[in-house]
Amino acid sequence: MSKSLDKHDPSDLAILGGDPLFTRPLAVGRPNVGNVDRFLGRVRDILDTRWLTNDGPYVQEFESRIAELAGTRYCVAMSSGTVALEIASRGLGLLEEVIMPAFTFVATAHALMWQGTRPVFCDIEPQTHHIDPGAVEALINHRTSGILAVHLWGKTCDVDGLAEIAKRHGLPLMFDACHALGVSQGGRRVGTFGACEVLSFHATKYLNTFEGGAVVTDDAELAEKLRYMRNFGFCGEDCVAHLGTNGKMNEVAAAMGLTLLEERDELVAVNKSNYEAYLREIDGACGLHVMQYPSDGAYNYQHVVAMIDEDDACLERDHVVTVLRAENVLARRYFYPGCHRMKPYSAMHEYAAVHLPVTDDIAARVIVLPTGPQLSHDDIAHIGTILRLAATAAPRIVARLRESGSAWC
Ligand SMILES: *Cc1c(COP(=O)(O)O)cnc(C)c1O
Repeated sequence: MSKSLDKHDPSDLAILGGDPLFTRPLAVGRPNVGNVDRFLGRVRDILDTRWLTNDGPYVQEFESRIAELAGTRYCVAMSSGTVALEIASRGLGLLEEVIMPAFTFVATAHALMWQGTRPVFCDIEPQTHHIDPGAVEALINHRTSGILAVHLWGKTCDVDGLAEIAKRHGLPLMFDACHALGVSQGGRRVGTFGACEVLSFHATKYLNTFEGGAVVTDDAELAEKLRYMRNFGFCGEDCVAHLGTNGKMNEVAAAMGLTLLEERDELVAVNKSNYEAYLREIDGACGLHVMQYPSDGAYNYQHVVAMIDEDDACLERDHVVTVLRAENVLARRYFYPGCHRMKPYSAMHEYAAVHLPVTDDIAARVIVLPTGPQLSHDDIAHIGTILRLAATAAPRIVARLRESGSAWC
């Protein structure tokens, strides 16, 4: 990624009239594309055989590779993570109300609401950003049909605390593991927790199938049911056993996934070394602190998450994001303002009394930074320079932003 210049003085900042540091935008979640020849070889084979979809050989191979990676007996590939969440929650019989965090991608909530199941939003723990088991228990009532927890940022949430509560109340527990493909903590792999776990292979995830998702589980009966449900309920040529939908993954998608799986180790290694570079280069700059990972795990490092520390922040979170964007570093606020503050939830009277102080605080302070093979360590060092320069020029930047008006919705 070419830089147009080195910056030494606050006036060099793009927000104050300088040229952007990067000539091309550095996006969060820039899609990874694996070895093009290997991918096209698979696509040619798919076209030659004309087996384009419906549980074809590439989908089957992809499922077995993902099950291996997740340490589970079954993987049922789907057309997206959202559809996988819908089908999995329906397969588990989650009706009426399901307790879940509001600090997640809105698809987690929509997947429930889409089928008439009401998400009940629960607060999170300030340190981990994960659903708070104590808060979950306080929300359980006679309408509760299950718990949907999220392994946010690819770290495992309090799986034991949640499992204990779920067991005590006789509730199914499932996980949105869309951030956590290939993660393990304390020697236990994501995939093996709860009744089932849901993965996403959307283009922006570090391992993609263009669009795609999967449910992984050790439960043979559940896996079989999910297979029927993703294919209109068909159990044989003229036999329909279940209510079903079309949630199938196609063969070209699986070919992409298989090609990227061959490069997964390198992709994770790049993300890990970028994460370590961010930790060295920006931690503490402009009140930003890079979120760390527990030492007893293997992570995919697909998210570089930084938090604005209110005590030593010189600029508000949104101002920092604007400063970075002006440099073509397309940093993002994530899961802001939280599902509970988005429609349709925010407009429904059932949610009027929802009070999630930790979620609100975290959603106001998170910045997600670009990573992946698009960035070099030099690039990350330059991002650190930008942040330190911005810290020295905070009043000028705030004045400039007031003049121009903020662009946020
Ligand atoms: C990406 C994502 C989803 C949705 O997955 P899609 O494959 O885009 O449908 C759901 N939950 C979380 C936490 C995600 O990051």
